[in-house]
Amino acid sequence: MKLPALKIPKKPSEMSRRDFLQSGAAATIVLAPGVTLMAYGAKADAAPADAAKRYGLLIDVNKCSKDCTACVSACSKEHGWQDTGHPETDAQWIRKIDLVDKANGHEVSLPVMCQHCESPPCVDVCPTGASFKRVDGIVLVDKHTCIGCRYCMMACPYKARSFVHEPLTDQKSYSPRGKGTVESCTLCVHRVDKGGTPACVEACDATGNGAMLFGDLNDPESEIAKQVATYQSTALRADLGLNPGVRYQNL
Ligand code: SF4
Ligand code: SF4
Repeated sequence: MKLPALKIPKKPSEMSRRDFLQSGAAATIVLAPGVTLMAYGAKADAAPADAAKRYGLLIDVNKCSKDCTACVSACSKEHGWQDTGHPETDAQWIRKIDLVDKANGHEVSLPVMCQHCESPPCVDVCPTGASFKRVDGIVLVDKHTCIGCRYCMMACPYKARSFVHEPLTDQKSYSPRGKGTVESCTLCVHRVDKGGTPACVEACDATGNGAMLFGDLNDPESEIAKQVATYQSTALRADLGLNPGVRYQNL
C-alpha cells in the first residue's frame, strides 16, 4: 500500500525537550467541545521516562478467574472508555480471552492488552510518529499527531488497538482521548510516572486473585524480575520476536 505524502515530524521518543515543546505536542489542546487536555508527560508532577527501566506486566493465568473481569472494568473506569455494543468496533484497551487446550480440556482465561513490544510494529508503520515507544518501554499514541489512518491497528498482531468512532463523553484529564484517533493500553503511564500501579493490577489484587504483577523488568530486585528469572513465562506470539513487556505464566 502506498502511503500518502506527509510532512513527517520527529517521533516524540527522538525529540529533545525543545523539539517537543516546539512541536505543539505539549501544548494544551481542546479535543472536544468543553474538554481541554494536556499531552502525556506535560504535567509538572510527572517524572520523566527513565531509560534504565523496562516496565512490564507478568500475568499468572492460573490465578485469573474465568468469570472475573475486574481488570477490564477498572481500565474502563480509569480511562473513560465504554463498550459500544458493536464487537467489531469496541475499544481494545484490555479484553479477556478464554483458551481451551484441546489435548486435555484444560481451560485458561487471560487478559490481553497492548503488549508494549520492544520492537513495536505499530510504531514502525505510523506515518506521523504519533505511535511511539518511551525509553522505559511504554508504547503510546500521541492523540495530537494521530491522523486516524489505522495502519497501526493493522500492524498490531495482538489486535490491541482500536479507533474512536463515537463522540466522547467521559474524558479524563490524565488520559487524553480523541474521536478519530487510535488508542490502546497506556500501561497507566499517568500512574506509573507518579510511582503508582496500573488500575487493572490494583483491581485484580482487590479481588484476591493477585494474577497481575507490574514492575521494572530491568531491576533485578523487583518482584517481577525475580519471578521472570525464577519461573518459566512466555510471551504471546513469541515467534514474532517482538519481545513484549507483558509476560504470561502457566500458559
Ligand atoms: Fe504495538 Fe500491538 Fe505491540 Fe502494543 S502489542 S506495542 S500496539 S504492536
Ligand atoms: Fe488499562 Fe492501565 Fe491496565 Fe493498560 S495498564 S490495561 S491502560 S488499566
